[in-house]
Amino acid sequence: MKRIYLDHAATTPVDPEVVKAMLPYFTEYYGNASSLHSFGTEAYRSMEDSRQKVADIIKASKEEIIFTSSGTESDNLAIKGVVAKKRKEIENTKGPHIITSKIEHPAVLDTCKYLEKQGFVVHYLSVDKYGIVDIDELREKISKSTFLVSIMHANNEIGTIEPIEEIGKITRSKNIVLHVDAVQTFGKIPIDANELNIDLLSISGHKIYGPKGVGALYIRRGTQLEPIIHGGGHEKGLRSSTENIPGIVGLGKAAELASKRMEADIKYLTMLRDHLIKYVLNNIEESYLNGHPTQRLPNNANFRFNGIEGESLILNLDENGIAASTGSACSSKKLEPSHVLMAIGLNEVEAHGSLRITLGRENTEDEIEYVEKGLVETVKKLRSMSPIWKKSLELDKWRTQMEERGHEH
Ligand code: PLP
Repeated sequence: MKRIYLDHAATTPVDPEVVKAMLPYFTEYYGNASSLHSFGTEAYRSMEDSRQKVADIIKASKEEIIFTSSGTESDNLAIKGVVAKKRKEIENTKGPHIITSKIEHPAVLDTCKYLEKQGFVVHYLSVDKYGIVDIDELREKISKSTFLVSIMHANNEIGTIEPIEEIGKITRSKNIVLHVDAVQTFGKIPIDANELNIDLLSISGHKIYGPKGVGALYIRRGTQLEPIIHGGGHEKGLRSSTENIPGIVGLGKAAELASKRMEADIKYLTMLRDHLIKYVLNNIEESYLNGHPTQRLPNNANFRFNGIEGESLILNLDENGIAASTGSACSSKKLEPSHVLMAIGLNEVEAHGSLRITLGRENTEDEIEYVEKGLVETVKKLRSMSPIWKKSLELDKWRTQMEERGHEH
């Protein structure tokens, strides 16, 4: 059976060109980038070449990029690193010390919750029904003790792109450090870190057809932070540990390809996405789009279908070779509704009826047409077995009858 992968926000296949670029660094150029001999300098040079490629995409300079093991580590280093630096300054102040949003990735949210346990005050901004953060609330909540604002560039579940430019103007004018989790946007949509007034920006390799287990953090020149991993002093002392050269070379190559293909990818993916959205909303009754209608990632479509559960939809689609995802995260054994979908105002049942489709450059128009038909069939099948759906139909019928009676009187 043909399989169709539609979960690119979770991870992407590694581009064959990236694999090709990485392979010699396992067996041929395996030196330690800190060594002084030629094996070491080879590794060092390729690492610096990658650093330049990563910097180029966000119009930063090479000196402002450090390599990490993941987007999660970059988020942790950005937030905990700034907090550690400011600890003394803000002791005994009331806060909020950090302002973030309710819809951040757990790499940011759980880091903030951890810091709350350490005594820091964190404010979680609300979002509107599309998932856009409340800028007025941000302005209101900033206090003299606020030193960090952390807002994601685009949401990984619903694809909404946040108004970072506006946020950057506010944080710059108040002299507050701005961290942006750009794991879902780096290499996918244009970013100018300087123009957007971003001080720290998190990047991950495996979302852009690069390898897993490698990431990067942009640190604007002059931004002060403490390391969270201590050791041999690699990466300007901010991230000790022998550098993962094959991974770094892979990230550099993936960044280079992303930059070359960005314009074409945006155009192609937007075309596929909009076709899918239009088809689903026109052909499946009581289906809705989660997230912003236009201010969204080119590859993200997140739907809500009344009367069915996202999990059973995923499993049924998987039986037909279609790999998608729910909007909700499974926390160990308990199935929790997604914090993102709850924050945009859905109730638990609605949040459980959501489906995330994230497209990639290898998806074809034929695949999307197959998926559209598959979705119509699967939703129909699941609704025919759904007591919730039957109840809602009965309720609708009853409502119409009552309305008709109302008109008669
Ligand atoms: N931030 C966002 C917005 C993400 O989507 C992800 C991955 O799902 C991460 C952070 C974590 O990145 P990584 O898997 O590289 O740790």
